[in-house]
Amino acid sequence: MELSALRGVGEAMLARLHTLGLRRVSDVLLHAPLRYENRTRLGMIADLQHGEDALIEGVVLSVEQRQKARQSNWHVRLQDESGALNLWFFNPPPGIAAMLKPGQALRVFGAVKGGMLGFDMAHPEVLRLPAPLDTALTPVYPAQAGLSQGYLRRVVNEALSLWTQKPDILADELPSELAQGLALPSLREAVVCLHRPPPAQPACLDAAKQRLVFEELLAQQLGMRRWKNHAERWLARPLCAEPELGQRLRAGLPFALTRAQARVLEDIAADVVQPRPMRRLVQGDVGSGKTVVAALAACAALEAGQQVAIMAPTELLAEQHQRNLTAWFAPLGVAVVALTGSQKGVARRKALEAVAQGHAGVVTGTHALFQDGVAFHDLGLIVIDEQHRFGVQQRLALSEKGRQGETHPHQLVMTATPIPRTLAMTAYADLDVSVLDELPPGRTPVATAAVPDSRRDEVMARLGTACRAGRQAYWVCTLVEESEKLEAKAAEEANETLCAALPDVRVGLVHGRMKPRDKEAVMRAFKLGKLDILVATTVIEVGVDVPNASLMVIENAERLGLAQLHQLRGRVGRGAVESSCVLLFSPPLSAIAKERLAVMRESNDGFLIAEKDLELRGPGEFLGTQQTGLARMRFADLARDSELIPQVREVADVVLRDYPQAVEPLIARWVGAGVELAKV
Ligand code: ADP
Ligand code: MG
Repeated sequence: MELSALRGVGEAMLARLHTLGLRRVSDVLLHAPLRYENRTRLGMIADLQHGEDALIEGVVLSVEQRQKARQSNWHVRLQDESGALNLWFFNPPPGIAAMLKPGQALRVFGAVKGGMLGFDMAHPEVLRLPAPLDTALTPVYPAQAGLSQGYLRRVVNEALSLWTQKPDILADELPSELAQGLALPSLREAVVCLHRPPPAQPACLDAAKQRLVFEELLAQQLGMRRWKNHAERWLARPLCAEPELGQRLRAGLPFALTRAQARVLEDIAADVVQPRPMRRLVQGDVGSGKTVVAALAACAALEAGQQVAIMAPTELLAEQHQRNLTAWFAPLGVAVVALTGSQKGVARRKALEAVAQGHAGVVTGTHALFQDGVAFHDLGLIVIDEQHRFGVQQRLALSEKGRQGETHPHQLVMTATPIPRTLAMTAYADLDVSVLDELPPGRTPVATAAVPDSRRDEVMARLGTACRAGRQAYWVCTLVEESEKLEAKAAEEANETLCAALPDVRVGLVHGRMKPRDKEAVMRAFKLGKLDILVATTVIEVGVDVPNASLMVIENAERLGLAQLHQLRGRVGRGAVESSCVLLFSPPLSAIAKERLAVMRESNDGFLIAEKDLELRGPGEFLGTQQTGLARMRFADLARDSELIPQVREVADVVLRDYPQAVEPLIARWVGAGVELAKV
C-alpha cells in the first residue's frame, strides 16, 4: 500500500519520506529506529546530571526574549519542587512559542548540560500539561532535513494502526511452525515492539531484532539461490582455452606471470570453454597483478571476434585501464575504446559507433558502459574490476546488457577485498572464486609509521628532502564524512601548505570534484615524473598504479578503517624501491584506532588485515555497501550476525522445499526491486 494512504502524508512530505527509502506503508513499519529515549520516568531538577537525557515537569517562572538580527533567542526558567532549570530556544516555531508563558505547566525532554547558572537544556521537546506519561520507550529514527522525529513517530503510529485493520500490508510470511521452532516472535510482535518497546522488558526488543535480522538474512539467501538457479540455465558461446592472441600478448609483456596468475588463468580457461557463462570472482591483494589477468582473459573473446567490456568503479581507474590496455593491445591490432560519463558531442558519438559496429574490441569505462543508449555489437566477456564498489544488482544488469537470446556473456569479477567465508556464502553465492595469493617478485613491504599531527612540519620537510633526491610521493587527504566537497577543500588546503613549505618541489592536486580531463592531466604528469608530490583525496584509493611513487602520507589516518588504509597504502610499494608510508593522526587515539594503526605498522598482508578488520569492528558497525557490494541491510549486519548464516541456509532449504509460496514475498520485501531482473 502506498504511503499516501496514511493520514498526514501529503505531497511535500511524501517526497521527503521517499528520500529515506520509504515508499510503502510496509517500509514505514520496517523503518528501524537508531536508538530509543526513555520518557517513561520523570526526573527532578535537583537530581540532573550533565550529559544525560532527562524528562522534567515544571511551571514556567520567567520568559526572556532577545531579538538579534533575524534570530530570536528565548531563555525560559522552568521550576519544579526541587529547583529551576534554564531552557533555551532559538527561533521556536509558533506552536512552541505559544506554550512559553509564565505560569504554564510543561513537560520537557532534552539533553542536560551543566552551565554557569545551573543546568541548561537547548531545544527541548515540549508538551503542555496535563498529558499522560509514555509507557513505551520513544524511538529515534534515521531522519532527513524537513522530517522531524515527532512527525516520523506520528507516521509510524498511523502505519501501525492501519496495519491492525489491514494485516495484508505486511503479511507474516515466515510459517509460524518455523518461527516457533527457531524461538522467534511473530512479525507483528516484533514490529510493534520495535517501535514501542516496553521499558521493563528489554528481552522483547532483542527478540524483535532477532526475528527481523533472521528474516532479512533468509530473504537475502533466497534471493541469491533463486538467482543462482536461474543463472545456471544460461547459455554462453564456448571460447578457445589458448587463443593465439593471448600467446602474443604474453610474449610482449616485460615480465613473466607469477605462478598465481598462471593458475587463475587456467581456472578462467576451464570456464570459458564451457557452453555456460563463466561467473568467476578473482580475489587478489592490491598489486597482485589483476589487470594483466583480465587482459589475457579478454584474448579468448577477442580472438573469437567478440567484444570485451572492462568496467571500473571510478573514472580515474577507467582512464588507467584505458592507458594500460591500449599499450598492450594496440600493437596487436585490437582497438581499445573508452566510454565515460563525461564524454560529449562528437567524441561520444564516435565512441558509441565504434562500440555498436564492433570496431572497438575492448571497451573500458565506468558504469556509464551500461547506460541506455550504449549498444554492443557482440559482447562476449564482461570484466568488473574492484567489485566491492558494485552491487549484485549492477552485476545482473550487466549480464542483461550483453544477452543475445538465451546466450549471455562470460563474466569475470575482480576484487582486492578479501572476503570472509560467511560473507561469501551470502554476497557471492553465485560466483566461483579464484585467489591470486602471490605478489609479483621484487616487491618490498611498505615500512609504515604512525606519527602525531604535531610533527607534520617535520614530515613535510623530510618529504621535501626525499623529492629532491628524485622520489615521488602521495599526500592523501581523508575525511570520515562522505563529502567530496569537504574532502576536496581539505586537499586544496594541503596543496597550498605544501606549495608554501616546499617552493622548489613540484606539487600537483587531484580530487573528485575536478573535471575528468584535468584530473587525467595531473595524473599523467605525476606518472611521467613531472610532479614530485601528488596531493589527492581518496579518489586514488582504488587501483591507481604509478610504480615510481614510493612515499605516502595519509592524513587523519586514525579515522579510517583498516580495509581503506590498506587499499590506500597499496598505491606505494609497487616498484623495486623501498617504500614508506606515514600515518598522520591527531591524539588522543581511541583503543580501536590505536590497534588499527598497530596492525598497519606490523603487517602488509591484505588477508590478515581483513581478518583483523572484522575482529575490530564493534557489533552494530556495518560492513558498508562499498565493501560488500551488497545493498545495505536494514537489520542484519554481516560482521555481527555471520554465525547465523549456516542456520539461515538450512532454513532456506526448508522454505524452498516446503513453503515455496513464501519465497517471492520474502525476496520482494527485503531484497527489493534490484533482483527482479533475475526473473527475466
Ligand atoms: P592490482 O591487482 O592491484 O590491480 P595491477 O594489475 O595494477 O594490480 O598490477 C600492479 C603492477 O604490477 C602493475 O604495474 C603491473 O604491470 C605489474 N605486474 C603485474 N603482473 C606482474 C608480474 N607477473 N611481474 C611483475 N610485475 C607485474
Ligand atoms: Mg587493479
